[in-house]
Amino acid sequence: MEFKVTELEREPVEFDLALGPGAVDLGEEAQQVGPLATNGRAEVIHEHRGPKEVVADIRLKGSFSGKFEVPCARCVEPVEIPLAADFDLIFRPIGVDGGASERSISAPETEIGYYQEDSLLLEDVLREQVLLSLPVRTLCSEDCKGLCPRCGANRNTQPCTCETGPSDPRWEALAGLRGRIKS
Ligand SMILES: [Zn+2]
Ligand SMILES: [Zn+2]
Repeated sequence: MEFKVTELEREPVEFDLALGPGAVDLGEEAQQVGPLATNGRAEVIHEHRGPKEVVADIRLKGSFSGKFEVPCARCVEPVEIPLAADFDLIFRPIGVDGGASERSISAPETEIGYYQEDSLLLEDVLREQVLLSLPVRTLCSEDCKGLCPRCGANRNTQPCTCETGPSDPRWEALAGLRGRIKS
């Protein structure tokens, strides 16, 4: 769905959609399972920057929910996870802030995006919002045994005959630390 500034200038647009898998390109990071429900409202907000300079921003407020599959962080088998989030975002015309400051936008200001060619694609916004809401690390189960580092077998389903040498306590400490940082 495309929001055109010229149309939004006339009146805000409300939407309530169910997008099929594939409508939003999530790349390699996640697979959409079933419909992605989204609803909300798009409108133009005029930013008065000076007596003659008025910037037409698009404000997009809404929410999404759906089911996705992501690979288990240990055994890479797909794990189904529900995701849902609200968003309230401002998009400025690209170029209006000048190249340098657009690039220097820092993390706390990421709610500001940019639109090109006088329009904004809902699918592009949803891709970003879904990817942002993905958990850093997903496990198929808390005690997933993962893949054998030697033969690559999935040790949940396939006991392998590789030697399991004595584990080094230094690595175990490091692995535990990494788990705490990520979760
Ligand atoms: Zn797993
Ligand atoms: Zn093995």
